[in-house]
Amino acid sequence: MRGALYNKVSRCGPLLLKMSITFNQARFLISAAKLSQCPADTGAEVAFCGRSNAGKSSAINALCRQKSLARTSKTPGRTQLINFFALDEHRKLVDLPGYGYAKVPMAVKDHWHKHLDEYLRNRQALRGMILLMDIRHPLKEFDVMMLEWCAEAELPLHILLTKADKLKKGPQKSSVLAVRRAVPDFVTVQAFSAPKQVGLDELGAKIQYWLEDVEE
Ligand code: GDP
Repeated sequence: MRGALYNKVSRCGPLLLKMSITFNQARFLISAAKLSQCPADTGAEVAFCGRSNAGKSSAINALCRQKSLARTSKTPGRTQLINFFALDEHRKLVDLPGYGYAKVPMAVKDHWHKHLDEYLRNRQALRGMILLMDIRHPLKEFDVMMLEWCAEAELPLHILLTKADKLKKGPQKSSVLAVRRAVPDFVTVQAFSAPKQVGLDELGAKIQYWLEDVEE
């Protein structure tokens, strides 16, 4: 599949750029309360997850150069839903429900977990996970749970250490190194800041890499 795409690209030469993802064309597709409401499990997608307030909406908006794309997921009643954004006909970004929000009652948390678990276990189109954590408070209980889940499912995982602008350059680098040392080898880690636009290219390149061999 990947070979076929490369052949096509090399024959077309300059078309390579046209085949790369144009993130600013992303558009909201649908919110799903359960797996059966998700769009057809075809093509390829990358999911974003993280504790509430980690900066997930800000990161998706920054990546797609749109002010309110991911605000959809903040609409009351939608916070527990899986929100899908189409990048093009074959590729999607997925905004998973924020987890670990202390004020949410246990029954709702259980629902989230069941819901997430079902998506993560069954979704064939899922190619990789972006896990967001505040650079000042990394690797909380739920982050570790997510890491373990991805390891078990052999799902590629990329960590965004968000709000990097809150730290000076030195502590920023130390935090990235400390997290890199703490996670398994298959996980990649980067610093990120939505308002300062730090790490956008690295994040875009990772998603492009995961999604480039989609079957047309
Ligand atoms: P979500 O709940 O994970 O979707 O988090 P949001 O994207 O809504 O962000 C939560 C809060 O953190 C908001 O007040 C954002 O403005 C702020 N925020 C998000 N990303 C950054 C960042 O990179 N730097 C700073 N300084 N603030 C951020």
